[in-house]
Amino acid sequence: MNKQEEERRSRLLKMRAERLPDIKKQFEEAQNRNFNSNFAPGGKDEKLLKKSKAVKKTTKKAVKETPKKNEEKDLRKVNLSVSTKKGEMVHHQKMLSQDVNAQATQHIIGLPVNKSRYNGFKGTQVTNAQIKSARPDPEAVRIIPIGGVGEFGIGKNMTVVEYKGEMIVIDMGSLFASEDYPGVNYMVPDIKYLEDNRDNVKAILFTHAHLDHIGACRHLLPKFNLLTPIYGTDFTIGMIKKQMSELEDVPELNYQVVDPLKHEKFQVSEHFSVEFIHVLHSIPGSTAIVVRTPNGTIYFSGDWRHEENPMGVQTDYERIDEIVKTEGIDLMLNESTNIDSPGHHPHSEYDVGENLGKVMDNYAGGRIIVSCFSSQIGRIELILKEAAARGRKVAFSGFSMINNIEVALRTKSVKVPKDTIMKMEDIIKLPDEKVCIICTGSQGEMNAVLNRMVTGAHKYIKIKSTDTIVFSSNPIPGNEPHVVSTVDGLLREGASVIQNGKSHITNLGPLHLSGHAYFEDHVDFVTRIHPKNYLPYHGEFYMLQHNAEMAENVIGIPRENIIISDDGDIIEFSKDKKIRKHGRISVGNKLYDDADQPVHEAVVKDRIHISREGIFIIVLTLSKKTGHLVKTPDIVSRAFIYLDNSEELIGKIRHYLRQKTDKSISTDPELKVLKEEIKEDITHILFDATGHTPIVIPVINKV
Ligand SMILES: [Zn+2]
Ligand SMILES: [Zn+2]
Repeated sequence: MNKQEEERRSRLLKMRAERLPDIKKQFEEAQNRNFNSNFAPGGKDEKLLKKSKAVKKTTKKAVKETPKKNEEKDLRKVNLSVSTKKGEMVHHQKMLSQDVNAQATQHIIGLPVNKSRYNGFKGTQVTNAQIKSARPDPEAVRIIPIGGVGEFGIGKNMTVVEYKGEMIVIDMGSLFASEDYPGVNYMVPDIKYLEDNRDNVKAILFTHAHLDHIGACRHLLPKFNLLTPIYGTDFTIGMIKKQMSELEDVPELNYQVVDPLKHEKFQVSEHFSVEFIHVLHSIPGSTAIVVRTPNGTIYFSGDWRHEENPMGVQTDYERIDEIVKTEGIDLMLNESTNIDSPGHHPHSEYDVGENLGKVMDNYAGGRIIVSCFSSQIGRIELILKEAAARGRKVAFSGFSMINNIEVALRTKSVKVPKDTIMKMEDIIKLPDEKVCIICTGSQGEMNAVLNRMVTGAHKYIKIKSTDTIVFSSNPIPGNEPHVVSTVDGLLREGASVIQNGKSHITNLGPLHLSGHAYFEDHVDFVTRIHPKNYLPYHGEFYMLQHNAEMAENVIGIPRENIIISDDGDIIEFSKDKKIRKHGRISVGNKLYDDADQPVHEAVVKDRIHISREGIFIIVLTLSKKTGHLVKTPDIVSRAFIYLDNSEELIGKIRHYLRQKTDKSISTDPELKVLKEEIKEDITHILFDATGHTPIVIPVINKV
């Protein structure tokens, strides 16, 4: 060891020796610390307990001796014996309520003042007042996104096109709520604006049957005039009808089934004519919609992807080119989902099918369980084909899977090889190598089929080590941890798991294809459409921005012809074919639970508050005659402290309550006032002991 090193060591040892008593003390403190460490010997409340006894004495004395004028003041101080200042508690409560509010209102669209480069005001700041007071152009066509732009997550797609009081509505989607919203399953747009203008709505159009486009139907369609025509392809209308059939009162609606390959133009009102265009996406019956207005032609892209070698009919590029050539597109609304994925779509759906076949070959001895999105009818068709070719039978599992297949069969949107589909209860009687199951749960949903197969909760299937499970899907952002937990569960059972995107491990893949165009597909398509004006839609704010940047920087659409809007913004499309942002309507969200019942925002806030701080209930029974406590107060703590471990704190609270009620006899405050005071004091005591402010509910009975 050289000299320098020696010196360093001795310096360190000296430092340690100096700090040792401190470290020891900290260690001992940590050892003694438990939930109510404040009351432990040496804890800060030990002093308080002593003080409290002292206070008790002085209070008694005070009652006897203090002149009457001070009595009231004293009463508020009944033996709280807390060391934290009330201000600290109030501060904690304020911060908490800010947090809870922030969490519970992420979906609320206030009056956004969008300062982005594409805000329609060349990026300059515009005040809400300016936006509100803008005078509308009576000759303009108004495009108003009710939902689906710049929200947290993709969903809730709904757009209104309006001209001189005539309105058409495109799509009516729902949005799955994140885990920030306890007990909320999904949200749908608040359509007060349309309800107020109910009779002006001339037609409702649906681009395709994904839930982010039709998921709100059950709640919203019954609010419109029942005679309003509802247009969509047969599969889309089939899925809407299926959804509506789950309502208690199924409304009779005016459905109009459209075949987009017929190129029909529907004059839906005096000023609007609409045409559906067949496009490729990941669900049957997907379309774009062309709306012809007095000010020009608008192209709503819907959701789309491009494939060189598609299953089924190619996107109707011929018709699109014809419209572009003969009339031109004055305004294009284009979806933004995969704008951040570089390049073109890398492979075709056929490759996925082929690879699923390879899985069946490589794992020929056992059952094959394929999990995918239930709406991917094309994918399901490929699985059926590959299974049939290998003599496997196929059964479906999962509510939405069976629903979608039913509609697909009814509308002839799926080709099924003869004698391939079997019922679940029958397929399990076959030898394993003859079994293929297509199920939901690829997103790791707790209660979906795949997880139930892992836990043994599934009626027919329990995962075994000879099973092979294929994830023919990608996790939707946010679902990754759930997918991991499902995969872990499957692996623990000894099963083989093949996930898309992990071909370096399994040598098998790709096993999934996204339904949305990649960046270069957008470049090609927007070049083809050659729109005068451009509105990115269907995306979170950054996606809209990237889509707009693509349009400006790659396609060369001038910045003033591109607008990124928020839900509720009114975009005016004028006679001279210019677009500008002009005014707002009020928009919002309605929350629903998994039983399709509405959830009030106040309930969500309470749930968040309780999940963070808990709830504390005190039940006091007072004698009507004497006002004294008749029995020991009942105390209930939920999601807060475990009562059995908190005797001292509870003792302190009981003691406080006894004193408080005794005091109240002489002054006889109103029950409401007494409750309020008890609530405040108990909150303070609990905060002092735990650093938390649960919801405190005092209940007072008089007998
Ligand atoms: Zn879609
Ligand atoms: Zn969509």
